[in-house]
Amino acid sequence: MRKIIISAGHGGTDPGASGNGYIERDLAIELRNLIVAELKALGITALTDDDKNALKQTLLWLRGKFTTGDILVDIHWNAAANPEAKGSEVIVPEKASAFELNLAKELLHCFTVFGFRDRGVKPETETARKSLGWMRPGAENVLIEVCFISNQTDMKLYQANKNGIARKLGATLAHFRSKN
Ligand SMILES: [Zn+2]
Repeated sequence: MRKIIISAGHGGTDPGASGNGYIERDLAIELRNLIVAELKALGITALTDDDKNALKQTLLWLRGKFTTGDILVDIHWNAAANPEAKGSEVIVPEKASAFELNLAKELLHCFTVFGFRDRGVKPETETARKSLGWMRPGAENVLIEVCFISNQTDMKLYQANKNGIARKLGATLAHFRSKN
């Protein structure tokens, strides 16, 4: 069985983006906790980072906690100057494994099924930073950009469906946990 490690992107003094009265760090911690609860209901214990950890601390904390087949999920919200930008995407390493690509596709489906715009599965090279620290640990790495904190429609859709989204994400991770 693969281990599942879920991190809330940002934490502590690193709040991430904000918009529409929300702070990315707090949204990510809440969704991480909802997914962990869904997994627990399925009898699966996921490892999670500390709420105080920013990315650097999380990457340090990760050392020695995983092996190559384990699943590493980081949760973020997107933000854009253009308030019209919306939708969900899942980021994978530049040279993604078939497992990472399949997992990312299924995780993205957990959002698009609720009506979020499908922005696709993207390699890290297509993100603003081009290279993401989360993609460096040698495991099966994915980073979820839930939706746009800067888009009111996205945030309303998320708040109305977050429990259903967490349920689907939990079921998807549980499925991939026992996959070859
Ligand atoms: Zn972020």
